[in-house]
Amino acid sequence: MKDIMVNSGWDWDRIPFELPMDIKWMIQATPIAMTLFATGWIWKAKTLPKIKTFLWRCAHESIGVKACLVSRGLGDEENCPICRVEVESVIHALRDCGWAKAVWRQLGVDNTNQAFWMTDLQEWLMWNGKMNRSFLPDQPPWKMIYPFAIWNIWKSRNNVVFNRKNPNPRLAADIIAQTKEFMYCVCSNRGLTRYIMKEVRWEKPPEGWSKLNTDGSVLGSTGLAGCGGIVRDSQGGWIAGFSRRIGLSNSFVAELWGLRDGLILCCNLNITSILIELDAKTIVDIFQNSNYENNVVSPILDDCRQLMCRFQRIQFKHCFRQANRCADRLARMAADRNLDFISFESPPVDLVNVMEEDFHGMYMTRLCLEHDVAF
Ligand SMILES: [Zn+2]
Repeated sequence: MKDIMVNSGWDWDRIPFELPMDIKWMIQATPIAMTLFATGWIWKAKTLPKIKTFLWRCAHESIGVKACLVSRGLGDEENCPICRVEVESVIHALRDCGWAKAVWRQLGVDNTNQAFWMTDLQEWLMWNGKMNRSFLPDQPPWKMIYPFAIWNIWKSRNNVVFNRKNPNPRLAADIIAQTKEFMYCVCSNRGLTRYIMKEVRWEKPPEGWSKLNTDGSVLGSTGLAGCGGIVRDSQGGWIAGFSRRIGLSNSFVAELWGLRDGLILCCNLNITSILIELDAKTIVDIFQNSNYENNVVSPILDDCRQLMCRFQRIQFKHCFRQANRCADRLARMAADRNLDFISFESPPVDLVNVMEEDFHGMYMTRLCLEHDVAF
């Protein structure tokens, strides 16, 4: 099915025969998950957070292989820089390229294993990522070895291609060692301090609501502060955004600047129901306590309180930094601009990737102390 799906719907030209119109309408109306493949298992996988993110990027074909780059208009050379024979797709880089094949064999994958060698990328990732038994005796479950394997194959490959290093001949042994080390540290209960990995992501606002994320931060060592914000609809789509260079300040004040700019923007857009999220808990607390006064920031504080009264429905929440990445990015952009304030009508290029990840509901992992998890 995914062969004839394109981003916006069905591409009928990809089927070699003609379907009656009424059948087409029926097919077209059938609800299908936009991503077409389940990636939920990735966030449950027992592996390092950065590897989960890598798995997710693989599943969405957004790692830097030639085929992906060419499909995005970056470059025109599709062939694998190592074997120079086949197109460098994700599955080629991670499984089918000669050297990767050798690593898989050393890890115990048999040449005759059809489920391993013949599947397409999505199936391959999921089948391996969920498989309990191991190919070699006395080894961790395959689903734990596998993520470390594709991660290491990818890293090693990049070292060969970009740093002209020789492939590591002990890679398979290293992969097993890393898997065991990870099992020992994270999966055992013997440690005194227990950490828990919590998955957080940006959530779309409910139907009929818009969401404003703002952020403020001090940029680098100069002490210059910036703020930024983004407004999105209930589909996760872009409505508006801004970025401001504030001047010398601290992050507390920068957060308030960001909030006020965001509120003004939403008022100008005639938004009636607004859900506001920022990652500074102190700021959220201030607005939940109407008695709070602070002479230094009272002009901004009062503005914000007044602006908040203009909405029919308003909710104000704290979110984790990992769920506020777009606003963070916009705040940091302020440093590179010559203007003090910019409002964006469409997403700036630097923001496109993060927005896309939010849109698809990508989780970020946050390591929390176990007793801090109750929120
Ligand atoms: Zn190759």
